[in-house]
Amino acid sequence: MRIPPFYSPLRGIALDEVWHDNDECTVARSIAPADRIAGVGAPRKRCPYCAVLDRPATAFTCPVASKQPK
Ligand SMILES: [Zn+2]
Repeated sequence: MRIPPFYSPLRGIALDEVWHDNDECTVARSIAPADRIAGVGAPRKRCPYCAVLDRPATAFTCPVASKQPK
């Protein structure tokens, strides 16, 4: 689920300093709510896992491609 962006001085299990905006993100979940700060904390990047989770479900299923044999 989409949530307001937050970052943390503790980056959890992330490799880079990033901000999160999805509560299903594994990295975001590794950061305790008490350690979260509202905002994107520029110049941090957006978390790549949050970006993937933010894609609409239709992006993962293509009816045309699934009918084509490999
Ligand atoms: Zn994230």
